[in-house]
Amino acid sequence: MTDPSPADRLQEVLARIRAAAGAAGRPCPRLLAVSKVQPAEAVAALAAAGQRAFGENYVQEAAAKRQALDPSVDAALEWHLIGHLQSNKAAVAARVFDWVHSIDRASVVTALAARRDPAAAPLNVLLQVNVEGEEGKAGCRPDEVEALAAAVAAQPRLALRGLMAIPVPHPDPEQRRPAFRAMKRLFDALAARHPQVDTLSMGMSDDFAVAIPEGATLVRIGTALFGPRPRP
Ligand SMILES: *Cc1c(COP(=O)(O)O)cnc(C)c1O
Repeated sequence: MTDPSPADRLQEVLARIRAAAGAAGRPCPRLLAVSKVQPAEAVAALAAAGQRAFGENYVQEAAAKRQALDPSVDAALEWHLIGHLQSNKAAVAARVFDWVHSIDRASVVTALAARRDPAAAPLNVLLQVNVEGEEGKAGCRPDEVEALAAAVAAQPRLALRGLMAIPVPHPDPEQRRPAFRAMKRLFDALAARHPQVDTLSMGMSDDFAVAIPEGATLVRIGTALFGPRPRP
């Protein structure tokens, strides 16, 4: 048996996303293809199959990958930073990405805003929430969301778009449902105060079928599209 092609994998994942949304009576979320560790050729193959939005965890890796892509291919793509952002990488991140999902403190808000090219479209921003209060994990506390959202909204170089979360990776994805549900409540409260908020980023390869009925508008999927990642 031959491996499925990138186009086959993409169509299969899109069908599973549509099925989960349809069964829950929810609008179909966007697919973010998580291409961390994957070579530029894998991105190009998925782009050729019609995928537009790609997610990366490391600023330098994304910058190098964009350089390696044919400029005409790269120009049609949308790049999302989903990994932790160190303040000293803010200048590069503000140039390389269209979206940053991992905003969790005021210092990166000001750093990104200061570095975003005024000639470019505003950088789309999601606030990462440590929704289960895990010790030592990235993300702001739920009660910090509004202050951070106000800080983003005050920056014309940034566009506040919503929230992102990575629940505790319980082996049974069903056990992640309460975290997704808590995120949806925070999201609805935020959207009520900030009408431009439209994106709730949650759900990965093994739990997007749980995240979608709970209200995900964007799912971040790597393994199901590209196959298992080589261990670092
Ligand atoms: C790696 C990663 C993903 C994708 O995970 P898969 O299980 O491969 O789908 C999604 N979100 C974040 C933040 C990640 O780091």
